[in-house]
Amino acid sequence: MKGDKRYLLVLGMLLGLIAGAWAGWALGLRADYYFGFLGRFFLTALKMLVLPLIVCSLISAVGLLGDVRRLGRTAGATLAYYLTTTAVAVLIGIILVNLIKPGVVGPEGRLPAAEKSQQIQERIASLEREIETVRQRGGPGARREIENLQWLLGVEKKKLSNLAKAKRFEREQRGLFGAFKETLQMFVTPDIVRGPPGTVRGDRVEQPPDTLAIIVFSIILGGLLTTVGPKGRLVIDVVDGLNQAILKFVQIVLWIAPIGVFGLVASKLGGTGGGDAFFHELKRLGRYAVTVIVGLGVHGLIVLPLILALLGRRNPLRYVLAVSQALLNAFSTASSGATLPLTLEGVERRAGVRPEAARFVVPMGATVNMDGTALYEAVAVIFIAQSQGIHLPAGAQVIIFLTASLAAIGAAAIPEAGLVTMLIVLRAVNLDTEWIGMILAIDWFLDRCRTTVNVWGDAVGAAVIERFGLRWAGLPGGADGQKAKAET
Ligand code: ASP
Repeated sequence: MKGDKRYLLVLGMLLGLIAGAWAGWALGLRADYYFGFLGRFFLTALKMLVLPLIVCSLISAVGLLGDVRRLGRTAGATLAYYLTTTAVAVLIGIILVNLIKPGVVGPEGRLPAAEKSQQIQERIASLEREIETVRQRGGPGARREIENLQWLLGVEKKKLSNLAKAKRFEREQRGLFGAFKETLQMFVTPDIVRGPPGTVRGDRVEQPPDTLAIIVFSIILGGLLTTVGPKGRLVIDVVDGLNQAILKFVQIVLWIAPIGVFGLVASKLGGTGGGDAFFHELKRLGRYAVTVIVGLGVHGLIVLPLILALLGRRNPLRYVLAVSQALLNAFSTASSGATLPLTLEGVERRAGVRPEAARFVVPMGATVNMDGTALYEAVAVIFIAQSQGIHLPAGAQVIIFLTASLAAIGAAAIPEAGLVTMLIVLRAVNLDTEWIGMILAIDWFLDRCRTTVNVWGDAVGAAVIERFGLRWAGLPGGADGQKAKAET
C-alpha cells in the first residue's frame, strides 16, 4: 500500500473514532442498535486472521532464526525485555497511586463495596419478566424494546459470570505461590483451538482461543521443524508463504477499518448509556481514572519512547506513525489480540523491522507483554484497598508489584481480561474479590487506554529486540538490511 493512501486510512480511522464517540454520546443505546453491527463485522474479520497469523508468524520467525540455540537466545532476550518494561510500568502505577491516593475519602464518601450476585440475579430476573411482558403486549416498537432489554440482560449476565469466576478463583491458594500457580496454568490448554469457556455476551458464551498456549505450542513446533532436515525446511517455507498472504489479507481488511472503528466506538459508548452516563461514572471514579491515565501517559509517552530512541535507535515519532493504525485499532477494540494483525503489519511492513524479530516478538508480546494492564491492575487494587479504608503495608505492596506483573502476563489479549486476572492480585493480598464491582462501571474506557499502551509496548519491543536480541543470538542486529524495505 502506498504511503499517502495509508495516511488516508489513518485519517479515516481517526474520523471514525471521533464520529463514533459523537454518535454514542448523543444516541445512547440506539447507537448500539444502529451501528453496533458495523463494528462487530470489522472485529470478527480481524479475529478471523489472528489465529493463523500467530501460528504462521511464529513458525516462520523461528525458521528464519535458523536453529534452536538462536531461538532460545532470542526468546530469552524478548522475555527479559518484556518483564523489565512490565515491572517499570507497575512501579509507575504503584508510585502514582500512593502519591495521588485516589481512594482515600471520608467514610461518608466511600464507594459501595460490591456488586453482589444476589442483586445482579434479581436484576436479571426482572429484565426477563419485562421482556416477557413486552413480548406478550406486542405492537409497534416492541421488537426494538425487546432488543434493548436483551442487550441489558447480556450485560448483567456478563457481570454475573465475572463474579462466578471470582468465586471459582477464591478456592485457589492465596499469596504469591497461588498467583504463580494460576499464571503457570495459563501456558497450557486442553483444547488448542477453542480455549477455556469465555465471557458471556448476550445469550452466547464466547470462547476466545487460548493464545498463550498456542504461542508456546507454535514456538516449540517451529523449533522442532528446524531439527528434522529438508522436510522441516519445506514446511517452514510453506508457512512463510502463508504468513505473507495473511499479511496481505490484513491490508484488505484495513479498508473497512474507518467504518469498523466508527461502529465499535459508537456502540460501546452508546451501549454503556451514552455521554451522560459516562460523565456520571467519570465523576464518581474520576480520581482513580486520572491516576490510571496519568500512569499510562508517563509509560507510553515518556518511558517507551525513550527506550525506543536509546535502545532501538529509532525516531519515536516516525515509529508511532508507522504503527498508528494499530494504536487506533487498539483503542477502538480494546483487544491487543484482535489488533495483532495490524501491529504486525505496521512493525514489519511499515516500520521495516526485520521479520525474524517482528514475527517473533509481536505475537509473543500481544499475549505476554501488557504494560498497560499491569500498571492498571496495581493502581486498581491499591485504589480498592484505599477506598475501603485498608492500609497496605510495604510488604503487601511488594506482593502487588510481583503479582500484578504475573497477572498481566496471564491476561488474555481480549477486552477486560485484565479485570479477571486482577482477581489474582486481590486474592494475593487478601482483599475481597467482589470489590472489583466498584470499578466495573468505568473499566470499559480504561481498558481501551491500557490496550493502546499494551500494543505500543509490543511494537517498541520489536525494535529493541531487532537491535539487541538478534545480535545476541548471533544474527546481524539492527535495522540495517531492512531500511530499504521500510516505507516510513
Ligand atoms: N484488553 C486488554 C488487551 O487486550 C487486556 C486487559 O483487559 O487489560 O490488551
